[in-house]
Amino acid sequence: MAENFVVPPPVQAAVPVRGGGLFPVRRIFCVGRNYAEHAREMGHDPNREPPFFFTKPADAVLSGGQDTPYPPATSDLHHEFELVVALSGGGADVAEADALGLVFGYAAGLDMTRRDLQGEAKKLGRPWDMAKGFDASAPISEIVPASVCGHPASGRITLSVNGKVRQDSDIAKMIWNVPETIAALSRLVTLAPGDLIFTGTPEGVAATVRGDVLDGSIAGVTVLRTKLV
Ligand code: MN
Repeated sequence: MAENFVVPPPVQAAVPVRGGGLFPVRRIFCVGRNYAEHAREMGHDPNREPPFFFTKPADAVLSGGQDTPYPPATSDLHHEFELVVALSGGGADVAEADALGLVFGYAAGLDMTRRDLQGEAKKLGRPWDMAKGFDASAPISEIVPASVCGHPASGRITLSVNGKVRQDSDIAKMIWNVPETIAALSRLVTLAPGDLIFTGTPEGVAATVRGDVLDGSIAGVTVLRTKLV
């Protein structure tokens, strides 16, 4: 069939796996406002209303410690450091009790955000796509198989910029934990192997500029380093 493509087919986006191999990225889903203190810093009351989601293109991933290019059309690029879930299974209407059985492993990721465009979109009731889903908007670490790191439900999550801590929380503070998030998302779409879920960021999001070195760490999972260029 390949010879019938009328333009070159896209290269499969993929993320290296600790211990070898590549995780093929099918889709990237992201949870909005999943830590109470971050909801407050963005001007919202945290609550237990169902989680909401947005997406990034699969090829927004940037792995292997590559430099992150500063994107066009913004002067307020924010870092949002997050635990990322990588799925090896899928399905619709997944029960919370079955959700962790779909998880291949975990990674540390940055949901880079053009905050000025997001603010404008919120004000005008427009979509967030251009604020969240731009090229290279998802720098990500290696993926660590759950067979190595287990299914972390707690652990310190920190992001430093040029050696100074900006985000410092614990993944136990997520409003919606990983099984709840997978179950909720599976009621909206049919999940599939290769899907990534960015699980939301703790407080401390702020602007980052060219030359900044971002160092993220999730205890018991892995670390991520990238430089803005
Ligand atoms: Mn986020």
